[in-house]
Amino acid sequence: MKARFVVVIFLVAFIVMCINPSHTFDKFQFSKTDNAKLLFERNEESIRGNSSISLDITFDGWNVTIKGIQEIKLSLSSPATIPLLFENSSISKFDIEKIEVYGAKVSVEGFYDGRYGLLLLNVSPNKSRQKIRIFYTSHYQPLLDVYMRDIIEWHMKSTEDYFYLPPEAYMLIPKIDRGATINVESYPTNYTLAGILKLPNNKYKPLLPERGTFYANGGRFYILLGRWDIYKKNIVIDGKNVDVIALTDEGEWVVDELAKILKAYSSRLIPYPYNELIYIRLKGHRSETEGFGLYGGAAGTQFKSVIPHEVAHNWFGIYAELGVLDESFATYTSSFYNLTSEQLDYWEGICLSSRDWTPIVDINTVTRKHQTNLYQRGGFILRSLQFVVGDEIFFKGVRELLETCHARNCTQTEETLNLVKEIYENLTERNLDWFFKEWFYTAGYPNFTVSSLKITQNSGYYTLILNITEENGFAMPLEVRIVTLAENITKRIFVNGSSFLEVKTKERPIMIILDPNDWIANINGSSYRINWEKFTFEKIEKEELEINEVKVVVN
Ligand SMILES: [Zn+2]
Repeated sequence: MKARFVVVIFLVAFIVMCINPSHTFDKFQFSKTDNAKLLFERNEESIRGNSSISLDITFDGWNVTIKGIQEIKLSLSSPATIPLLFENSSISKFDIEKIEVYGAKVSVEGFYDGRYGLLLLNVSPNKSRQKIRIFYTSHYQPLLDVYMRDIIEWHMKSTEDYFYLPPEAYMLIPKIDRGATINVESYPTNYTLAGILKLPNNKYKPLLPERGTFYANGGRFYILLGRWDIYKKNIVIDGKNVDVIALTDEGEWVVDELAKILKAYSSRLIPYPYNELIYIRLKGHRSETEGFGLYGGAAGTQFKSVIPHEVAHNWFGIYAELGVLDESFATYTSSFYNLTSEQLDYWEGICLSSRDWTPIVDINTVTRKHQTNLYQRGGFILRSLQFVVGDEIFFKGVRELLETCHARNCTQTEETLNLVKEIYENLTERNLDWFFKEWFYTAGYPNFTVSSLKITQNSGYYTLILNITEENGFAMPLEVRIVTLAENITKRIFVNGSSFLEVKTKERPIMIILDPNDWIANINGSSYRINWEKFTFEKIEKEELEINEVKVVVN
């Protein structure tokens, strides 16, 4: 407790005032309690009302001072208790200067547990409408804030360039459902103002102010201030206008790339389901490449290598909720945007570097341990599925999955995998159990080898007979490319244990490439591996194989 804190901790606190039309409190006494937050949670149901907050934000070095007036409008017909929670910790100090009450008699009880304070306003209405106005000053140190009050704070790290004010820093948290407006009257001029609102279903929506005012619907609202430029672009997707907005210091190109991403994803998946996409550049707590998908937006440490993935969550994590498989689909979808064969080889290399032997079907939470299997392996499996069923059926199935999972719960991994299988079995009229079993129910990868290669020459042409084997129990269709000086011939065979391929060519074959288009993550398929000790990506020497003067490459 600091001297600035107007209130004094005492055993009992009880002040009753009943002056009409208004009266003012300017002193409170607080009782000690073990857990003010718990008391707050326990306290009755939410009360219907409106609240509006007006704020003046100033900096004093890296201390933020917020002068606020919080107004709560109620229309109670019988007495009720309004709980108000606030934080007084090493980085957030809340001085309540006075409370004005109109249209009611109010008594105030105060509790404090060492970090959180709770005010209970016992309101006895004497008019049909009541108004409570709270005047306060809050001191907050964003750069020191490492408290995780809510999941999203795991993904936001305040820096001098971009930082956030959690509700605890700028308001008393009421239990009021209904509208809340937050009006930021003033803030430092070299910063841009934005916000993130927590929605009832644990999604987060980026908000931009209208003349300094945010309309939040009672959820936790984070005020963001950043040294961003704002870039806007309007595009039309499937006849609908979509505002694409980037809050970043990376440059204007970002907004053009976001528009490209939305178009690329919309043309293969269903059209982007929202009216706007807001990208906010924020630092994370863990690495230089982390981010999270927002409802109608994306946030992350950098555009490249993060945001294409995060934007895809709008389809698979927000419009439809696929549980952990959301990550596999988002990783896969990000490959629609600027995928080079080099990146494809990296992607395969990350899969093959996995040290986690948990099959995807057994993963029900996103953790660091399962990240490679869930993201890269899961994404690559979907690429292989596209190869197995063909482009047209594949995207038709994804669209069906999105609509089905928009309407029903798809958060259970195994159930959703069964649904995906069912969709593709219906569309292909084929049994696909083998594919789902080997890829989602194991953590291994196929190992294709050319076990024998014979070439015979007849009048004017060559006959090549290949025996291709797979040793890890995978049955898969496989592309095989035969390269001669005159032509490239690509054949598709089904390898189940062992398979023969016979091809006639005009010139003598000089090279055989297995999986030339990298449809399948397979052992020996990538020239890269993660060095887990150094957390770097390393090029590895692939084994060169030559049989009967024909080079054999596994891709
Ligand atoms: Zn993700």
